[in-house]
Amino acid sequence: MSKTAVLFIIAGGATLIALKILAKAEFLNPGGSVKDRVALEIIQEAFQEGRLAPGGLVTEGTVGSTGQWLALARLAGVSLAMVSAAFGCKCFIAMPDDAAVEKAQMLEALGATVQRLRPVSITHPEHFVNVARRTAATQPNAIFADQFENPANYRAHLKTGEEIWQQTGGRLDAFVSGAGTGGTIAGVSCLLKAKNPGTKVTRGVMYAREEAEGRRLKHPFDTITEGIGINRLTRNFEQARIDGAFKGTDAEAVEMARYLLHHDGLFVGSSAAMNAVGTVKAARQLGPGHTIVTVLCDGGHRHLSKFHNLEYLQQWGLTPTHQGDDLSFVL
Ligand code: PMP
Repeated sequence: MSKTAVLFIIAGGATLIALKILAKAEFLNPGGSVKDRVALEIIQEAFQEGRLAPGGLVTEGTVGSTGQWLALARLAGVSLAMVSAAFGCKCFIAMPDDAAVEKAQMLEALGATVQRLRPVSITHPEHFVNVARRTAATQPNAIFADQFENPANYRAHLKTGEEIWQQTGGRLDAFVSGAGTGGTIAGVSCLLKAKNPGTKVTRGVMYAREEAEGRRLKHPFDTITEGIGINRLTRNFEQARIDGAFKGTDAEAVEMARYLLHHDGLFVGSSAAMNAVGTVKAARQLGPGHTIVTVLCDGGHRHLSKFHNLEYLQQWGLTPTHQGDDLSFVL
């Protein structure tokens, strides 16, 4: 899968900090995101345990990306549809009917059956997650992928951690990542700590614009950075071994995406940009001579209607201003 490449050597203020930041380019995976690993592990484990065979069915409920709500499970659908097809299985994705049309079209192009449902509370039997779970439970040779609670997610990322270890030759001091399901930070942190208990692991926490400005939030997840931000302890996140956290804002993520594009030619999504913000914060804490690793979860092309749409950003007061090599936008 994806390689780890030098992302940037940061300049802190006037003095150059001799410090290396490496990023695993997960947007290079076949389905375009870090979730390919999770889909592959979920389906492979189900095959090995005899719960799924060719001709079977994989189901998942994925949220839409409407309004300012987080789209936590957005990418998993694409990866599941793609990997299901590769294993000769069918894929069923349930999603709210206010999700972007292109999202359903993409899944259908990958051979999945998509059911769009009226948005209702998670306690309602017709909630998209409950529909996906029930669809798998009521037929043979079918699994509910359940990326939030299925520990195959975190096990997939033990391999991500192993790759990071191999690709850096074990020469890294810290790993930084946001958490959605928690699978990435759990798997990578367990592996890296097993190899070297001294590796520092920092989790990113989104800090919405209003909160950063001391104003009350309309909703606790009122941020445009998609995929990270967790409001419950999932079975995957439970496994994580974390030393600390950094707070990041949408404004920092937006500026960082432009920085990466102009500085490194990397076109990344919002959570990837946020992870890069976290590496700069960690760099300032750790100081010279360290190596910090993160993951670039997906590419910018999946975010053209929001995070990479100037009109949309303007509505949020987030018009990017970044120019040159200056990283002072990272607070
Ligand atoms: N980035 C994106 C775009 C995501 O969709 C997600 C979660 N679905 C994450 C990052 C977070 O990764 P994890 O679920 O492994 O915590």
